[in-house]
Amino acid sequence: MPELPELTVIREVLERRVVGARIARAELALPHGALVVRDLTGGTGVNGLIDARLTAIQRRGKYLIFHLDAAPDRPRYLIVNPKLTGRLHLCAPATRRPARTCLVLGLDQGDDLRYVDDKRMGQVYLSAQPPERAGLPDFGALGPEPFDLDAAGFAAALKPFQGEIKGVLTRGEAVAGIGNAYVDEILWAAGLNPFRKRSSLSAAEIRRLFEAMQQTLAAATENVRQEMGENIHLKPRDFLSVHLRGGQPCPRCGAPIAELTANQRVTSFCRTCQPGGLVKGMPTGTPAAPRP
Ligand SMILES: [Zn+2]
Repeated sequence: MPELPELTVIREVLERRVVGARIARAELALPHGALVVRDLTGGTGVNGLIDARLTAIQRRGKYLIFHLDAAPDRPRYLIVNPKLTGRLHLCAPATRRPARTCLVLGLDQGDDLRYVDDKRMGQVYLSAQPPERAGLPDFGALGPEPFDLDAAGFAAALKPFQGEIKGVLTRGEAVAGIGNAYVDEILWAAGLNPFRKRSSLSAAEIRRLFEAMQQTLAAATENVRQEMGENIHLKPRDFLSVHLRGGQPCPRCGAPIAELTANQRVTSFCRTCQPGGLVKGMPTGTPAAPRP
């Protein structure tokens, strides 16, 4: 679930709170941790993290990368890809552990840094190499960051991808860091139907999409910063305009927001503000999944 806005803020909080701290305890919480945590060093697993110091935290796409000052035979990078259901929690060690806790790092500044994953879909890698050299296929395929692009660079990044624009933006290869929630927001802001093919978009529409992407992500990051505060395990999303708001009035035109489910992903959009795109063979009319 965390996308660029949440991970940007989580990184800011963790940079302020845990960079410089030493890992005093490391615990693979079983059984769930065994499904999520992968030691790419071939070493001693999470015990290899003990005594390492956190020197920097970086975000790339939907990954957070913790840099560790450690001996050469130890993990130097902790690479976290929370996917749909993973979350980090920074809390006092006495705080009750959620059932699906996977990894607990006890820091010498007094907090626990935990990775919790309700569906165990995310991944945590211990690596001696930085992620681009750690052999992670998804990481290697990541496209440019949305805020590293100008309009021409964005158009060029999208050009090799022909499919439906929503899929092109969420897959991470054209542009990194956007998932199912913010893509709905961006396409609504741009007035573009999520099911239109990238190849059908005009230069003016691509330009509009670029501006909507940057504005939507910047505004969302500020909203998350205000609402999340230091509570990095929270998922503040009440400021979203259309995502998971099926049936509610579109904030722009008042028409009910449409919600379709395909491949277990909900798409929320306004048929009035985002016309077109419905072609033969499309999974339109599929009932939306029940809300969690
Ligand atoms: Zn509308």
